[in-house]
Amino acid sequence: MLDRIDHIGVATDDLDAALTLYAGSLGMALAHRETVESQGVEAVLLDVGEGHVELLLPLGPDTPVGKYLEKRGPGLHHVAYSVGDIEAALEQLSGAGIELIDEEPRVGIRDSRVAFLHPRTTGGVLTEIVEPAAGH
Ligand code: ZN
Repeated sequence: MLDRIDHIGVATDDLDAALTLYAGSLGMALAHRETVESQGVEAVLLDVGEGHVELLLPLGPDTPVGKYLEKRGPGLHHVAYSVGDIEAALEQLSGAGIELIDEEPRVGIRDSRVAFLHPRTTGGVLTEIVEPAAGH
């Protein structure tokens, strides 16, 4: 059902500093930059082989990532797995007892369709399911 790790999401309160680290020191190629209103973030994707790191800067303190930063500070935020059919994956996960934060997929970065799973049923790891748009 889960094809591969699509990306890891990293919350930051300083996108320039995060880019200096990931694109500079760690040498990852900048792939995409986008404001994702549905998630309340400015997001930057960097390439790591076929996977990505997704840097997340909250658009405000009342967004999910803003609240996360307030509580825990910058760092690893979520892990995202890609799937071919997100509706089928959510139905299967729900049937397996996984609590869905998003009952229906919403629009993610680069026109992907995404849904989050609640960390209380995924061992404390905020987990995202991604159905990439064609061509990504
Ligand atoms: Zn993500």
